[in-house]
Amino acid sequence: MKKVAILGSTGSIGESTLDVIRDNRDKFEVSALAAGSNYRLLAKQIEEFQPKLSALFNGDSAKNFRDEFPSFSLEEGVEGMLKAAAFAESDVVVSAIVGAAGLMPTFAAVDAGKDIALANKETLVMAGRLFWERMSSKQRLLPVDSEHSAIFQALRGENPKEVKKIILTASGGPFRQTSAEDLKNVTKAMALKHPSWSMGEKISIDSATMMNKGLEVIEARWLFDVKPEQIEVVVHPESIIHSMVEFVDGSVIAQLSMPDMRLPIAYALTYPQRIPLKHKELNLAELGSLNFEKPDPERFPCLRLAFEAMKGKDSCPIVLNAANEIVVQAFLEERIGFQDIPQLIEKVLNSHEEKNVSDIQEVVELDSWARNEAKKNL
Ligand code: NAD
Ligand code: MG
Repeated sequence: MKKVAILGSTGSIGESTLDVIRDNRDKFEVSALAAGSNYRLLAKQIEEFQPKLSALFNGDSAKNFRDEFPSFSLEEGVEGMLKAAAFAESDVVVSAIVGAAGLMPTFAAVDAGKDIALANKETLVMAGRLFWERMSSKQRLLPVDSEHSAIFQALRGENPKEVKKIILTASGGPFRQTSAEDLKNVTKAMALKHPSWSMGEKISIDSATMMNKGLEVIEARWLFDVKPEQIEVVVHPESIIHSMVEFVDGSVIAQLSMPDMRLPIAYALTYPQRIPLKHKELNLAELGSLNFEKPDPERFPCLRLAFEAMKGKDSCPIVLNAANEIVVQAFLEERIGFQDIPQLIEKVLNSHEEKNVSDIQEVVELDSWARNEAKKNL
């Protein structure tokens, strides 16, 4: 029986993880659940999965939880997140908090010696090198992001030295065919309507700007220890090929499936085994064709900004990520337009002095500096 802790259990990845566990009760037990503020959903999850530890980040939600569910015990705040991450009984921690808020809990899980099933790409974007410095050789980092799971699967049994490049696929998001002129007027509701995936709000906006792909490029660099020049992005609107690896002999190995996050989640939880899953089968004849195109850097500058940040010093991706979180939140609050997103991020990046970091405290300081700087520019 594998004991699974889920950080961000009430989110899109958290709920899909619980779906996988619900269908495989003979294989998994939930040891700990942690969430931000959705206390009623957390209570429902506790009732169903009976974890030994539960935690809510938000203080007001924790108070409401205790009022409505006095018989359940609850940890609270940052401390609660860290306790859930390091809970002694867990074998694997699913890191699925959204954004930089996932960094410290994920590091706490690493320091507690857990295997990490990583959805929170922001952790590697902000602190990829420090992450590996803290992982022991006994621990495993298992990608949950569908592209990275695809690459992880394509690399199975291969010699990493024979990898020529990694090709990440991108759906292109809801605005793949929207003109630069029309992009000026797109609304929050339009941006949240992803053509192939149903996800949390922040990653949905990141997909619309293609910052999500940019963050994934940086994530891939740290996950697979490749040079920035070895990573490419191709737009593939059907989201059937989840990513590919090209080897030195020209062979390209891809992983295909219908888009459903339960597959990469289950693979991360059962690796190196596979388990049967109940979802829609891939039928290529029915699909007829798969399409590919180059990403357009003019309409989607976030992808270029992320590539540049990856090639810069350590501070660059930290600042990129923090500024992105602030401006995406401002877009969600309808305070700025869609095309202000890349412009504001670039402004913050240009106003900072690049440097390398040597510890997690410096990462946190740079993150908060960039957040303040982005807020000043709103
Ligand atoms: P979501 O918004 O649906 O869920 C986020 C979860 O984090 C919720 O449980 C929320 O309560 C919790 N949370 C938010 N702020 C918190 C805080 N300050 N402290 C503690 N908990 C907090 O997001 P999601 O779509 O599930 O994405 C989660 C992570 O997984 C992101 O890093 C995202 O990039 C990554 N990811 C998501 C998908 C997907 O299909 N949704 C795919 C690949 C990667
Ligand atoms: Mg992805």
